[in-house]
Amino acid sequence: MSLEGSAARIVFGNGASAKVGPWVEELGCRRALVLSTPHQAAEAEAMAARLGALSAGTFAGAAMHTPVDVTERALSHAQEVGADCVVSLGGGSTTGLGKAMAWRTGIPQIVVPTTYAGSEVTPILGQTENGVKTTLRSPKVTPEVVIYDPELTLGLPVGMSVTSGLNAIAHAAEGLYARDRNPITTLMAIDGMQALKEALPVLVQHPRDLEAREQALYGAWLCGTVLGQISMSLHHKICHTLGGSFDTPHAETHSVMLPHTIGFNASVVPALMEPVSTIFGGATPGQALYDFASSIGAPRSLQEFGLVEADLDRAADIATANPYTNPRPIDRQSIRALLQDAWRGQRPPY
Ligand code: NAD
Repeated sequence: MSLEGSAARIVFGNGASAKVGPWVEELGCRRALVLSTPHQAAEAEAMAARLGALSAGTFAGAAMHTPVDVTERALSHAQEVGADCVVSLGGGSTTGLGKAMAWRTGIPQIVVPTTYAGSEVTPILGQTENGVKTTLRSPKVTPEVVIYDPELTLGLPVGMSVTSGLNAIAHAAEGLYARDRNPITTLMAIDGMQALKEALPVLVQHPRDLEAREQALYGAWLCGTVLGQISMSLHHKICHTLGGSFDTPHAETHSVMLPHTIGFNASVVPALMEPVSTIFGGATPGQALYDFASSIGAPRSLQEFGLVEADLDRAADIATANPYTNPRPIDRQSIRALLQDAWRGQRPPY
């Protein structure tokens, strides 16, 4: 069975991020540049201080959707300071920057994820240039080392924990019907969804519950690994369309669309999607996910992101123009109807 797309080394455990230094050395490197978004600049500085003589400082300019101009600035900074590896500390945006640098130069990456997006264990890189988002898949962008430290996720705000967790669940749910799924990706998808189903409601009540943080991060690792192994279908296509062309927020868009896309597809592959109803406890997979997402306070409608009804026509056009493979045949009319339900925030009919 191919393991293409898996990170070379995964470390999981509370306090594991204190061991970044030895991993820099294990990679044969001497000067690590710590990457982050501006929001996590202080955490990046602290990581650089902990690295001591192995630190080449920080670059705190990572941004959503990996803009190419940011990558170019980061690369020239890395060259100036003589960095020979990067430590990406943060969510999918920061991981994306490290991957984009590796794609261009082969620079080794250590990722310390602080959200549940899962990018750290995929060979996928999405980038934007002149307002156009393109995605590539290559083992060259897969990080060499991933360090999951639940303690670093204690401060992830509740709203982001919820939407990021649903983003992870979306990877697993699409893994259940992907044409290139295998028994191992299905096992990981089921276990990953179960872990997040248990952890997220606890985190809504007790955001600093370390055991639930550990369980959620474990689920995110599994769900991200599934994404790295399978091809994406309708759900990811629609989210990429909305994010790329209407600038809707990433994890929140996944949260709103998930019940609608999964329900739509589940109606033609009910046996494959049965684990979703079993785990989330509902009559149908779409309704089970809708009720679960509502119960943990996730956004429910596309209207909340400023989309107007007329945008849905263009979104349906784009989403059906070059569709990804999908278990249920796609036509513009049904995708437009699905978007309408998601825009209104209605409970899906399937
Ligand atoms: P993000 O990385 O954009 O983070 C959002 C904000 O939250 C940032 O300001 C970040 O600094 C902050 N943040 C992150 N962790 C925090 C923490 N623990 N405490 C406080 N603040 C924290 O969000 P994301 O949802 O993780 O990533 C979204 C991006 O990742 C998108 O661009 C998406 O396309 C990409 N992505 C890529 C893949 C892939 O396989 N290539 C998979 C999933 C997501």
